[in-house]
Amino acid sequence: MTKIIHEIPMTTEIKAFLLSIGTADVEDEKMVLPTLKSTAGPSAGSAGSVFIASNNKRVRLNLDTDSPIKIRKTATTNDIAVYYRDQLIVTGKIEPALAHCPEQAYINLSEKCIFDCKYCSVPILQGHTKTKEETLEIIQSAFDKGNVKAISITSGVENTPEGELNRVLDLMPELKKYNVPIGVSIYATPEGSRKLKETGVSEVKYNIEVADAEIFKKVCPGLSETDVFVELKDAVRLFGRGKVFSNIIIGLGETDESVEQMIENLAEIGVIACIRPIYENALRKGECYMERPSEERLLKLYEMQKRISEKYDLHPEKAETMCSLCSGCDMVPGKDD
Ligand code: SF4
Repeated sequence: MTKIIHEIPMTTEIKAFLLSIGTADVEDEKMVLPTLKSTAGPSAGSAGSVFIASNNKRVRLNLDTDSPIKIRKTATTNDIAVYYRDQLIVTGKIEPALAHCPEQAYINLSEKCIFDCKYCSVPILQGHTKTKEETLEIIQSAFDKGNVKAISITSGVENTPEGELNRVLDLMPELKKYNVPIGVSIYATPEGSRKLKETGVSEVKYNIEVADAEIFKKVCPGLSETDVFVELKDAVRLFGRGKVFSNIIIGLGETDESVEQMIENLAEIGVIACIRPIYENALRKGECYMERPSEERLLKLYEMQKRISEKYDLHPEKAETMCSLCSGCDMVPGKDD
């Protein structure tokens, strides 16, 4: 049954609280259709997700019938009320995803990976690699559905990092006609940034993943933090300060001090960090420490990132593509104030 309720706009604190839970249950599955299963990154293979928009903020939550967050319809068409253990905490709307997320055609090319980051389901699931035709069809259908602000492309590594770079380069001539910014987040390779820049890519994201060097060695075997840093620096030289991004996953046992240091190390070279709370991945249970960060921790890290962004004159809110444009999974300075 629907009922009239008073509006509660999303605040910074409410968004951090929702992100700290990370999941939601919807009263009626139709409310979130079409929903897309996540095929990229640590939460690949999850049951789907829901995007809530309120007060110019957006949050993405994984669908989970056991979640303490319940989303219910209100008397007003399209509006929803979000409850935590029967207490109303925020009102808003559900946003439809065009392809993976609202307002973007965000495509994961290869759902396979030769690496074995211990928090990630992709190496376990070893899913499908899209053909060029499949990818172009998804992008076209996103443009048919709505107002697409950006095309963003990510990929696991099916065979080699160079192979993924070539997959993106092969697509680029077909994407120019859409006349929107294009962001690419793939495994960094020497010469990769130059080639991506030359074909018209606007922004890149190479993920440093872990704030603590010792934890990185354990949870990302075969990857080199030093190599990622070298490629991030080169990317800034080509794309410019504030046009290069890097995920730092939160909840792998790192300290707040190490996160602060990593945000600063990235900012110093002109890279914007995406502070990404980890989902405790059921498929990787016991393989590494994973703990979703609390609301308090997320707010503390958010304040850190705001301060460091201001110090280095970086503007996450001006991102034209990918996660800092979307802001569903992370607290984004300048957008979530
Ligand atoms: S923030 Fe990034 S990973 Fe999260 S929903 Fe948006 S585009 Fe996808």
